[in-house]
Amino acid sequence: EKAEIRTTLSLLYEEFVGSQGPAGRFMRSRLERLSSLWVKTGQRMREKVTNQTSPQKKVLLYPGVLSGGAGQRFGDMVNRGGPLGELVQWADLSASLYVLGHNVTFTTSQHHLRSVIGAAPGRGSCPIQRPLTFDLIYTDYHGLTHFQGAMGLAFQHYQCRFRILDSFGTEPAFNLGTYAHRHGYKTLWGSWGLRPMQYMTMFPHTPDNSFLGFVSEGEAALSRQQEREEEGEPRAYVKDNMALVYGKQDYMWQGKESYLDVIGRELETHGTVYQPPGHNSAQLPGDVINHGLLTQDQFLQLLRRAKVFVGLGFPYEGPAPLEAIASGCVFLQPRFQPPLSSETSDFYKGKPTTRLVSSQHPYAEVFIGKPFVWTVDLTNKTEVQETVRAILRTEVKPFTPREFTCDGMLERVHAYITHQDFCSMSFPTWPPEGALRVHLGPLGDSCGSVCGRASLVCEPALFHHLNSPAAFSRLGLSCSSMDQEVDNHLFPAYSPWGRRCGLQRDRLLFSCAGSDLGLRRLCPCRGYQPGQVALCPEC
Ligand code: UDP
Repeated sequence: EKAEIRTTLSLLYEEFVGSQGPAGRFMRSRLERLSSLWVKTGQRMREKVTNQTSPQKKVLLYPGVLSGGAGQRFGDMVNRGGPLGELVQWADLSASLYVLGHNVTFTTSQHHLRSVIGAAPGRGSCPIQRPLTFDLIYTDYHGLTHFQGAMGLAFQHYQCRFRILDSFGTEPAFNLGTYAHRHGYKTLWGSWGLRPMQYMTMFPHTPDNSFLGFVSEGEAALSRQQEREEEGEPRAYVKDNMALVYGKQDYMWQGKESYLDVIGRELETHGTVYQPPGHNSAQLPGDVINHGLLTQDQFLQLLRRAKVFVGLGFPYEGPAPLEAIASGCVFLQPRFQPPLSSETSDFYKGKPTTRLVSSQHPYAEVFIGKPFVWTVDLTNKTEVQETVRAILRTEVKPFTPREFTCDGMLERVHAYITHQDFCSMSFPTWPPEGALRVHLGPLGDSCGSVCGRASLVCEPALFHHLNSPAAFSRLGLSCSSMDQEVDNHLFPAYSPWGRRCGLQRDRLLFSCAGSDLGLRRLCPCRGYQPGQVALCPEC
């Protein structure tokens, strides 16, 4: 059967009926609110891709984080200011797959999971298994453990069909258990030995993973607004002299008084901080107008009135700053100097990444930047004050990077479904070899930054083209030795001392991340479409 673009989401809602509780309600209401945008975007896409229909996939979505006892706790947190970013992403992924015409099953129940994947109920550690009928399974790190328990030995056989939603990313050095163990890449997660591109991130963090993303709803709210205006309603887009502070729980505000004080002198400060029942106000500075935790819809309305969205330094790398910028706010956020890492930060500890986090929201800082995003030293009152004043002198229009629009997400998910095949043993053929731009990095640089400096992006699927003696000679390097015995996730690479060349032994270790002061790395870079870093111009 062919995957036909759908023009209604109504049958998808039924998939969410079983997901009761606050998390289920949050996702359902998001789907409903965004449904007309999804449908419209789907229709546009149908006109573009008429001759490109792909076979319908049977897809299972299982957010392990919402299942079982831990799921209960996570769900309970939703109404108390807990993290919502994952739910945003799960809702948007479901909608994308459904609109693209695939056969979507969504569940958060371990019991239901066992029945749909055909594991007979728990006869010890060796469940009876029917062949897996799903072509693709989207889950998360928690869910992987559940699948492993339910599938037993079959898990190994089917692991190429998995896609792991992994907000912060998993670098290859942490992914391959034996290597991580031997080389001290300590991690709570990781070590599953999947293809690194099977991990799907919230933002384009390391190009070693697939960037999945979500839809920045400011864009959707704005288009609903435009529709109403086209129907003759007056323009409601008027900014108040207002700052909205980013932080759903009051602990996030602690120690930020003097920063908020500087902002409070220029702008009326508002918050959306959860208040426990019976408590009139959370522990906030006196002049802050707190609205309490809002529904997403109400939160977006408030963003439309605000001029500045104020980051306090936590939560890291969430969706809200993009919604703010899409609603015409400027995002003001703290710089982290020195940057955070999994070595130094409690939050990132145990996360399978060596990434350095230079501010509360590095994507906003690096990919969007001024005039939409201003990154400051939060302890420097003068800098904060001057920045706020500069912001107030600057006029910004609502802005959404293409990759966070509905169009951008559909296009990306469609490309992944069509081209990514982790079950085949042959080397990837997408992106095509024609996209390859080979760069020889300087000593001590990662391929991520080598490609980045050339306004390109590192593409791990192209590494295999560089992993041969010929690739070294094409770069004018004459090797005294060609080493393929050593395990090193930085290979292929060249060591000027002794002119030693190293080839990669294990394809799972091809890695855009990572550097060594003694090595010049061979980097597979490629271009990307404007505003859509996941796709090459010729893709
Ligand atoms: N949000 C909300 N009500 C609020 C504040 C935020 O529904 O009062 C939503 C917001 O629209 C965003 C989501 O919470 O999509 C996640 O926000 P955040 O960036 O804080 O990331 P998290 O840490 O929750 O994953």
